[in-house]
Amino acid sequence: MTSSWERRAVIDLANIRENVKRVGELVAPAAIMGVVKADGYGHGAIAVGRAAVQAGATWLGCAHVTEALKIRDAGIEVPMLAWLHTLDTPFAQAISANIDLAVSGWELDHVARAAQEAAQPARVHLKIDTGLGRNGSAPADWETLLDRASSYQDEGLMRVVGVFSHLAVADEPERPETDEQLEAFNQAVALAEDAGFDLEVRHIANTPAILSRPDSHYDLVRLGLGMYGMSPFVGEEPERYGLRPAMTLTSRIANVKKVPAGSGVGYGLRYHTSEETYLGLVPMGYADGIPRSALNAPVSINGKTYLVRGTIAMDQFVVDLGPDIDVEAMLGSEVILFGQGGPSITEWADAAGTINYEIATRVSPRVPRRCVEGTWGESGE
Ligand SMILES: *Cc1c(COP(=O)(O)O)cnc(C)c1O
Repeated sequence: MTSSWERRAVIDLANIRENVKRVGELVAPAAIMGVVKADGYGHGAIAVGRAAVQAGATWLGCAHVTEALKIRDAGIEVPMLAWLHTLDTPFAQAISANIDLAVSGWELDHVARAAQEAAQPARVHLKIDTGLGRNGSAPADWETLLDRASSYQDEGLMRVVGVFSHLAVADEPERPETDEQLEAFNQAVALAEDAGFDLEVRHIANTPAILSRPDSHYDLVRLGLGMYGMSPFVGEEPERYGLRPAMTLTSRIANVKKVPAGSGVGYGLRYHTSEETYLGLVPMGYADGIPRSALNAPVSINGKTYLVRGTIAMDQFVVDLGPDIDVEAMLGSEVILFGQGGPSITEWADAAGTINYEIATRVSPRVPRRCVEGTWGESGE
């Protein structure tokens, strides 16, 4: 009753730890890289990074060097890898901060120069494109890349410690392309070993491959989605894999009113009440990261499921509460959009025509994050 929050994303760090431990059992003896790009998939990169390391992740990974530097600045010392660069990436700073760098091609010369500047050899993971068509060396250019990296290594400017790749369709385990990618990866690794590199880690598995392809685990797996307790597979909830959602997105009922049958709701009047009913107003909208395209998404209020009705606006949306509610009790009630005690994030993704990855990462800075350990109470928050 005395709570002072209007919107929040509660992040259960105990669940993050449990998820990392669960995956650790699944992939052993392979090691885990906790992927904390995009501010930890919207959960908070530093809190999640710490929790992941406490639970046994021995690496952390980010897309950008700038993301990785923030983790280092927070005092987290485990090996880290950053894999998506531009001509403006601060490579020398990364090398000084002991952040490993992915190299697909053009980066090699830049990383070598940065190593000179930092007066410290760079630790490099060479990336092979085995079929995703994004970053990574084309297979035709791989041996040239190995040769050039080998020269730099002989000059003492870098050490090639890893070879890696990324999968395109691992969330659809019945498709044949994953086999083809693993075969191409094996060939690329063999060529790197023939070139004399003493590799610490070979890695290709993301969450879907971690859960569905034990033959993809190699020395290290890159765990993103599963660490946050989400499932990458259509129609399969995370609990099936022993994973628990870490984020619960909640708000409170900001207004309740009785309206007659046939009342229009929201911009465009895309919903009309079918009977005399109560409408509940929820002060969260697309500026909070809730997708405007989510039609009829479910929310949970006092243990009951209701549906979002009408178009979601910038700051708010409406649920049809039906004719039989306790109006006094409803005002101020907690509204769980997804997470513990509410619908799953995947139900929101389905309603919006997208995937759970996008729903989690787009929760905006207007929503305060609150970290908890295990189940949380209401008092004093
Ligand atoms: C984001 C990302 C991952 C993590 O993928 P999940 O499916 O979330 O586990 C792994 N590797 C690379 C290169 C990525 O960009």
